Formats: sequence, structure tokens, C-alpha cells
Amino acid sequence: MEYLELKKLLKFSLKEKEIIKKLEMPEDAFLPLIFSIRFGGDWSLNKNSKKVMSIKEKITRYDKEKKIGYTLEIVYLFLNPILLSQEGTVHRLEKCSNKKERELVKRPYKVIVGSEYILKATMDPLESTIRLKKVNSPLEFTGSSAYGVSHEIEHLEKGEIKGKPFWEFKYLIDD
Ligand SMILES: [Zn+2]
Repeated sequence: MEYLELKKLLKFSLKEKEIIKKLEMPEDAFLPLIFSIRFGGDWSLNKNSKKVMSIKEKITRYDKEKKIGYTLEIVYLFLNPILLSQEGTVHRLEKCSNKKERELVKRPYKVIVGSEYILKATMDPLESTIRLKKVNSPLEFTGSSAYGVSHEIEHLEKGEIKGKPFWEFKYLIDD
């Protein structure tokens, strides 16, 4: 890494520390959010009976006339989340970062999540900003974010994700 890049990374990390202090959050509680920002995806962490998870949503805005757009990334950080309700069953394949192969699992289509503290981070690639805002609990999610919530809460409560391996699928030839 170049010296100037290193300096910028250091400045970014220091700013991060400052923000964590301002938000009066334990540093560990901020980690899943940092992971979602740096590496993408959803994350969870269970430490000293404190549970934290981050759920990422993506919204693409595209102007068909100008043919230009951007993808907003919204990360919700939850402190001690609980699943208040869930609705529906969706059979799907999922890849967990702890495992090499995808597995067949069942997830709810809609969830409502309660939490002691929810922080919403909006990453705007046009502005190059990460806006932080405390939001009220509970929150409702549907579709892919609901699957993410269910996946991370399974990690927090049971540790590992349990599903059927892909080799239980059968190839069929249609004619
Ligand atoms: Zn996982």
C-alpha cells in the first residue's frame, strides 16, 4: 500500500473510533457494522452475553433517460436483537461464510425485529458518505433482508447454521 493510501486508511480508522465514542456504544458492538462496510454482507457476533448483528440492504436508483445510477447500501446494526414475529416459509439455498458449500434452508419471508439499540448506516457511493442515524425498534424486513435476519439470529442463538447439503438435489433431464 502506498504511503498516502495508508495515511488515509489511518485517518478513516481514527474517525471510526471517534464516531463509536460519540455514539456511546461499546467498541465490540460496532464490529459487525464495520465488517458489513468493509467486506459486505451480514454479520453477527456473540460476546459476553452481548449479541450484535448487522443486516445489509441494497437499493439501486437508476435514471433511464440519463442512463446513470448508483446503489445505496443500508446497514442496520442491532444490539441484542430479538425476533418478535415471522411470517411465511421460503425454501432457499444459502452460503454461510463459515462453510465451503451452500445449503438448503428454510427462511421466513417477513420478520419483525426488536432491539435495544438500532443504528442505520447509509453508504452513498455518489457522495462517498456513511450517514449514521439511530432508529426506533422494532423494524420490519421482507425478502432477502428477512432471510439475512433469520440467518444471523440462528447464528446468535444456535451457533452454526443447519441445512441440507446441495448433494441432496437430483439432476433431471427435461425433454
Ligand atoms: Zn452464516
